[in-house]
Amino acid sequence: MSAVLLRRARLGAAVRDVLLGGGRVTAIADDLAAGAPGLPGLPAGTEVVDLDGAVLLPGLVDAHVHLEQWAATRRRIDVSATRSAAEAAALLAAAVRGAAVEPDSVVVGHGFRDALWPDVPCAALLDDVLPGRAVVLASGDLHTAWCSSVAVHRFALTSPDGVVVEQEAMELMARAGAVGPAVLDGWVLEAAAAAASRGVTAVVDLEYGDPLTSWRRRAARQPGGPPLRVAAGVWVDRLEQTIAAGLRSGDPLPGVTDPVAADRLRLGPVKVFVDGSLGTRTAFCTHAYPGAAGPRPHGVLRTPLPELERLLRRAASAGLDLAVHAIGDRATGVALDGFAAAGCTGRIEHAQQVHPDDLPRFARLGVAASVQPRHAVDDRDAADQHWAGATGWAFPYRALVDAGAELVLGSDAPVAPLDPWDGIASAVHRSLDGRAAWHPEQHLGLDVALAAASGGRRAVRVGDVADLVVVAEPPAAVLARDGAGGLRTTEVLGTLVAGRWTHRSGSLD
Ligand SMILES: [Zn+2]
Repeated sequence: MSAVLLRRARLGAAVRDVLLGGGRVTAIADDLAAGAPGLPGLPAGTEVVDLDGAVLLPGLVDAHVHLEQWAATRRRIDVSATRSAAEAAALLAAAVRGAAVEPDSVVVGHGFRDALWPDVPCAALLDDVLPGRAVVLASGDLHTAWCSSVAVHRFALTSPDGVVVEQEAMELMARAGAVGPAVLDGWVLEAAAAAASRGVTAVVDLEYGDPLTSWRRRAARQPGGPPLRVAAGVWVDRLEQTIAAGLRSGDPLPGVTDPVAADRLRLGPVKVFVDGSLGTRTAFCTHAYPGAAGPRPHGVLRTPLPELERLLRRAASAGLDLAVHAIGDRATGVALDGFAAAGCTGRIEHAQQVHPDDLPRFARLGVAASVQPRHAVDDRDAADQHWAGATGWAFPYRALVDAGAELVLGSDAPVAPLDPWDGIASAVHRSLDGRAAWHPEQHLGLDVALAAASGGRRAVRVGDVADLVVVAEPPAAVLARDGAGGLRTTEVLGTLVAGRWTHRSGSLD
């Protein structure tokens, strides 16, 4: 692997040369091009790139994505801005009319958030605006799907009124959005390149289905593999299959022969669900949902503690990492109980509500909180309504950090855009569009947010893996000058994975 010399890189307050080789940072000094005393000369064939004072940071890690769904969502009809079921249906119909969609194909939309809508999604609304069409709409949180009557029939859904939730909704979206592997792989690799252009060097991909087969296929398609490291997670329904294959988390994916791709593509964690989501009112909470009339006023416990403990023990004993989805405070408590009972560590995905008594348990048990700060911003109104009285411990990032918990940031794309700067900005200033920050006492300092978005790395050091990002200006300067909005649109000049460029803007030529 050839070496790269990054000249005049800004590292904190200093400007230094940084040499990369063998996938790592091998030297940092004032002037490596001249051959600094005590340092080896430059290896033959070293590529020299002058950063001219641009800022070099550890590469950004998105700890929770659904990459196929994100890739598809980038091409779906977006109804996230609508404020009623009727408005969403009308927008969808207008988009279909404008795009000459094949009459037999499924119309797929995404992003509705009905928690505060005045009307209720139902098949009849879609049948009225798009008669005879198969229409499937995913909610912004992916836990609900809303379908037309033709889609209900075509996909043999259990609900005649067209709304399905949780597992059935997730399976439906996988089927409805199916475009054939060749097309989808192209979209995924494009989405991965777009993520690299935002400074992302690694993702944890928690896609439903068979991600190991999909990634092996993509590795064969693109020499060198994707422009990111991918920890490909498997859902718990594939736990036994994964154990039987003898795979451990961190292992290269079997059947990937290209050496660069084999280094980038690894087996990730096993994903287990304890509850549902806030938007679908299935997150499992101490407080009952206001006005809840159904059989589960506190949300849904998908995996009770004894079963959770059994699964965690089974996975951990086979060398598999754990990603446990828990959103409501009771679910988060069950997840922590599960880790304690099984005697293993792992991550809790989302931890959107954490009872104050549970805060210190993260550090005590060695369990990380894998959080998506953009959700706090997007769901603040839904939380104010459905978690009334409990928002003091909703999205409690600062409280988690103060309690010693390890925090890792992610997007949960397609629930939020796969852009770590968006997550960092949301963590630092809990607001969008000029509204006052929501529970500002739970905001993170910029340094803390950056480290949480960088796999815990706070600086570029000799010996580090050469997963790096080059940005035009120090993030603190951008924040001070342009606020969180400026941080959100941070200009990324270049990205390297193991010392190889995965994104490089024209200004670095
Ligand atoms: Zn997710």
